Amino acid sequence: MAVARRSLHIRLPPLPTIKDVIRLYKLRALRELSQNFLMEPRLIDKIVRAAGNIENNVVVEVGPGPGGITRSIIRRAPRKVIVVEKDRRFIPSLELLADACKDRVEMDIITGDILKTDLTPFIPADTKADWLDPPPPINLIGNLPFSVSTILIIRWLEMISKHEGPWSFGRARMTLTFQKEVAERMAARILDKQRCRLSVMCQSWCTIKYKFDIPGSAFLPKPEVDVGVVTLTPLKTPIIKLPFKLVEKVVRQIFSMRQKYSIRGAQTLFPEDVREEMALRMYEMADIDPVTRPYQIANMEFARICEAYSEIIKRYPEFENYDYRAPKNKFVEIVEEKQEEM
Ligand code: SAM
Repeated sequence: MAVARRSLHIRLPPLPTIKDVIRLYKLRALRELSQNFLMEPRLIDKIVRAAGNIENNVVVEVGPGPGGITRSIIRRAPRKVIVVEKDRRFIPSLELLADACKDRVEMDIITGDILKTDLTPFIPADTKADWLDPPPPINLIGNLPFSVSTILIIRWLEMISKHEGPWSFGRARMTLTFQKEVAERMAARILDKQRCRLSVMCQSWCTIKYKFDIPGSAFLPKPEVDVGVVTLTPLKTPIIKLPFKLVEKVVRQIFSMRQKYSIRGAQTLFPEDVREEMALRMYEMADIDPVTRPYQIANMEFARICEAYSEIIKRYPEFENYDYRAPKNKFVEIVEEKQEEM
């Protein structure tokens, strides 16, 4: 008979409510830092539950703010919590929390910018797994400002592609919030009208799941848009087995003219005098119909296009550093953009 295993729950000593913490420490949300605090315990717990069972896991929380999500994480009995918060005003309330749980859960408080923080020294070495093993007991959770979360996911995808940082410990999972529209784009499959560069980049290196929406009204102050919660688990083998920067360049250029035939965007990978010939050759090598539109191309087909591009630049290294967006091409770009608007 299968016995359902109840996960351990830690009871924290009485603490002021998050509302009181905000009032006591005068933690008015700063609009310039796009701070929006999630106030509903039910939704906070739902985000943490989306990460799966985190008991005995190392959990990295980015942007803990007054600590609502952090409390929910701690209650689920992780082994260690590492929080990275840029705004120093939150440190005393996080220290209060670290003190309240010190007998049960180790907590590292890092004051700094997640985009500049090396998390590696804070993660215990014994959590390390091989890349092909199931994910290690390491989870990254964050409700970040939208502007930071989009830059961060691109940065993290590149680190995943190189097995760096937290991903030098194996396929660590992520549970993150994004502007709803961005979350939908990340998860958008072939033929979806939301499909874009971010969809292909996320799906090439990770399994992405759109978990649920959070209405803007659940935050204080209320942001203008709703929020989407996604989980990402790095794939054992990426769909596009080529360097991140190369893939990013090819996919970006193909989506640069999203309403046109995809070969139009693909042509911008090459200098003007060889553009049409080279793009056609690349599409032939990849066995892709040139009149396909960008959102009609599957991830595996993008892989074939990237492989063809990689072959071409091996044969013609002078094309490798060609950048359509470089200043001398600005005029061309403006003309293209104008045409797009028409
Ligand atoms: N986690 C809290 C919640 O859900 O209520 C706060 C969320 S608020 C949207 C984002 C938090 O991320 C703020 O506390 C902000 O100071 C912090 N933050 C913003 N940019 C950051 C960065 N680059 N590195 C670390 N933390 C950052």
